[in-house]
Amino acid sequence: MKESDIRPEDLMAESARLTDEDALRVLALKEKFVQVACPACDSPSHRHFFEKKGYHFVSCRDCRTVFVNPRPTSEILAEYYAGAESIRYFNEKIFPSSAQVRREKIFLPRVNRVMELVKKYALKTEILVDVGAGFGTFCEEIKRLARFSRVIAVEPAKSQAETCRRKGIEVIEELIERVRISGISVITCFELLEHLFSPKDFLTACMKALEPGGLLILTTPNIQGFDLQTLGLVSDNIGAPDHLNYFHPRSLTSLLQTCGFEVVELSTPGQLDVDIVRNKILKGEFDISGCPFLKHILIEEDEVVGRRFQEFLVQNHMSSHMWGVARKI
Ligand SMILES: [Zn+2]
Repeated sequence: MKESDIRPEDLMAESARLTDEDALRVLALKEKFVQVACPACDSPSHRHFFEKKGYHFVSCRDCRTVFVNPRPTSEILAEYYAGAESIRYFNEKIFPSSAQVRREKIFLPRVNRVMELVKKYALKTEILVDVGAGFGTFCEEIKRLARFSRVIAVEPAKSQAETCRRKGIEVIEELIERVRISGISVITCFELLEHLFSPKDFLTACMKALEPGGLLILTTPNIQGFDLQTLGLVSDNIGAPDHLNYFHPRSLTSLLQTCGFEVVELSTPGQLDVDIVRNKILKGEFDISGCPFLKHILIEEDEVVGRRFQEFLVQNHMSSHMWGVARKI
């Protein structure tokens, strides 16, 4: 899979423009932003990390999780997600134009991985809940296998909840914190934790909703991964108010344990680090003229050495795309 498969280049410029406008609208409410402790370890001690488009990113002095501080309140974020033009553009243009590739390259492998975990940990297959289900592609595909008695999409955004319903998926249009279902065998949440005002409150709610022995399966960026560490500010993934929390394998593990989970697997199976950095270099947005070693791997020998380098990143927990699998004890 290439980055351009899921982020069509002809649409990304308009998407970036709308994202900047939305971010400025939220930034105009800066006097209402609030200070928070580290979302992973609760430490109040942090240092300046960088500033991007008016948003202040800090790094926890104790666990090196990176987070936006001060940050918009839950109320401001709820309004943002309900009305952001960039999100509407993604929903109406980018997602539909890349839907087929996303289904094949992202959602089907996710379904396979989840089913492998279900088998490996001999889980019950009563209820699977996908939180932040979006367009319901994951739910649709896992439902097709008919392994779970119920597949439920938890999706608080009205238009996306409606799309899930049209696909015949059972939908709860609500935040997981307010959902009252018991006996859940598996909760999945893909690319969600980084968006939340309080990841800890969210994980605590997941803990309550799962049955004993049930599994939480999540993905989120790894701030210590190759493309995020290399590109830093230049990375398109670094941007508030969409992304507020950037964990890494150790800090995510520690947060899950604090919330009462046993972490059974932590991996970084991302496939796009090399391609993302390479694209930034080729577009002239990131300069590696002083790094012949990187130039050799990422530009001159990207087909063979670049591919092997990506495998090395995956094997060593150094890709920027992270999976966490945790069990309710
Ligand atoms: Zn911390």
